[in-house]
Amino acid sequence: MQYHKHEAVIVGAGGAGLMAALYASRSVDTAVISKLYPTRSHTGAAQGGIGAALANLEEDHWEWHAYDTVKGADWMGDEPEIEFMCREAIDVVIELEHMGLPFDRTPEGKISQRPFGGHTNNITHRPVRRAAHAADRTGHMILQTLYQQCIKNNVNFYDEFQVVDLLLNEGKAVGVVAYEIATGELHVFHAKTVLFATGGFGRMWKITSNAHAYTGDGNGIAARRGIPMQDLEFFQFHPTGIRGMGILITEGVRGEGGVLINNEGERFMDRYAPSVKDLASRDVVSRAIYLEIMAGRGINGEDWVWLDIRPETVNKYFERDDIRNPDGTPRRIDADYVRKKLPDIADFTKTYLGVDPVVDPMPVQPTAHYAMGGIPTDVHGRVLIDEERTPMPGFYAAGECACVSAHGANRLGTNSLLDLVVFGKQAGLDMARYCQENDWTPLPENAGQEVAEMLERIRTNDGHEHVATLRTELQQLMTKNVSVFRTQELLDEAVEEIQKLRERYKHIGIQDKGKTFNTELLQAWEFGNLLDLALLTATSAANRTESRGAHARDDYPDRDDENWMKHTLAWLQPDGTVKLSYKPVRRILNPDGTYKYPAIKRVY
Ligand SMILES: Cc1cc2nc3c(=O)[nH]c(=O)nc-3n(C[C@H](O)[C@H](O)[C@H](O)COP(=O)(O)OP(=O)(O)OC[C@H]3O[C@@H](n4cnc5c(N)ncnc54)[C@H](O)[C@@H]3O)c2cc1C
Repeated sequence: MQYHKHEAVIVGAGGAGLMAALYASRSVDTAVISKLYPTRSHTGAAQGGIGAALANLEEDHWEWHAYDTVKGADWMGDEPEIEFMCREAIDVVIELEHMGLPFDRTPEGKISQRPFGGHTNNITHRPVRRAAHAADRTGHMILQTLYQQCIKNNVNFYDEFQVVDLLLNEGKAVGVVAYEIATGELHVFHAKTVLFATGGFGRMWKITSNAHAYTGDGNGIAARRGIPMQDLEFFQFHPTGIRGMGILITEGVRGEGGVLINNEGERFMDRYAPSVKDLASRDVVSRAIYLEIMAGRGINGEDWVWLDIRPETVNKYFERDDIRNPDGTPRRIDADYVRKKLPDIADFTKTYLGVDPVVDPMPVQPTAHYAMGGIPTDVHGRVLIDEERTPMPGFYAAGECACVSAHGANRLGTNSLLDLVVFGKQAGLDMARYCQENDWTPLPENAGQEVAEMLERIRTNDGHEHVATLRTELQQLMTKNVSVFRTQELLDEAVEEIQKLRERYKHIGIQDKGKTFNTELLQAWEFGNLLDLALLTATSAANRTESRGAHARDDYPDRDDENWMKHTLAWLQPDGTVKLSYKPVRRILNPDGTYKYPAIKRVY
């Protein structure tokens, strides 16, 4: 076993990890450990944009952005944290621009912005242009820009090292254990502060937009180390995944005027969201697609619909709805415009479907996309371990694996990239502060021993179960039982079946017994994380007897603020059961004691 020592150890090199590293490395010795080469992180797949009320094309205010986010979150987001994110958004996007991020430009040279679901002008209730973007490669550009800045700042990178355990001592986080993928060697990292920025876990579903690496490693490790997971029942299904594959087609397509069409040729969002239509929040649009399918209006009676960005279709609706450019002229698009604004989408659909989006519509269906829940934190990225919001000294989380909670029950598009850079930055700053104010805490005795034995058990076990089979079964189960619409029966069955899979997981056997690039071993370990998180997700969902945001229950169709305006905390117990508890949603009061954001029914 090899030993390393860095004051700040950051696990994950996506947008959140790199932003934290950039800020921590300005004053303390910082290392980033990543199982992927940094620029292969899923942030690089983000297409549509990053939200900030820059008001470059029309009137906008961070307060409108905050209200849209509270509403999008279906009143499950913590309001001070939402305001913090939306206020900081403006400075942080300009900061990215100054770092060299090549945003698309307006004719005057300002950062260009496009409409996105749920982002509105709070007076007219029409969609507002708030998503700053670099074509449909915004995440890619963020990742490249931040990586360059980190290299310039001499951040120590440990690429293709997979973190497999968190080290705790005296109630503090003091390091991690990582597996070097090339050699199979274990490395112990001693740290004053540890940040998890390991991304999401959508790989527990069959149809998902998420990368293969989205196996929830950070969340799984934290859960097994006694940290609660917050609000896992809220998992977002994005309305437009490529049919059968789940690969994402950005909401930017609808931002540019694209519409959803059913088997009768109808633009059905007219009925479900009369004012913002196809740009309602994602939970609303995914449910609408599902209801169309249930009513037999999926294309050919099947489980998918069309997404249409052909200029003739889009211009027809622009004309009908009197959509105008900022200068008041009627808005119209042509094929060149679509190709310029959505080059990657045109590329994906040609590659995967043989469809050119300016000639033919695209077949889409909802796809598992984003974890609103995760490791509970405050705005400084500090991990909160109980209902009283007690921080664990030295332990931080940011990005999709964390839950601040700025997204509540449903995240608005463009708010995740924003969350990464806003809260990644805060976490980096607070880690630096903590490192400067505190001495080293020793590593626990036999650091790394426990996980070494666990990996050795997986490597040498001669069980008869195959990980690939178990994974397929889990993905099918989650897609059937813990999906867009849920019931008690489906959720209880899911919990029972996941427990059976967890039992069978103990009897897996792998064929590769070697140490070099043993990805079979690592995939087996990753699957263990998905199983633990699936159990926590299904249990949290089974207990929440209401519908809110992404958690829609056929048997409890209404939002129940009286009983359920509270966050779930779910602990994985050592005996494999789940303990649930709750903590209040944080709301903002006006001076006269009324709520600043009164909870109303969402109408789009
Ligand atoms: C296809 C797609 C499109 C999207 N489009 C948008 C968009 O337009 N706008 C928006 O706001 N959001 C978008 N999102 C959501 C957003 O991109 C993600 O939520 C966000 O990028 C996650 O960033 P992150 O920094 O938390 O994690 P990631 O960027 O996923 O990085 C995770 C990092 O953790 C590392 N890691 C994981 N496990 C381990 C381990 N065990 N050991 C070591 N390292 C580990 C990985 O190597 C990686 O570097 C999109 C998501 C997808 C999937």
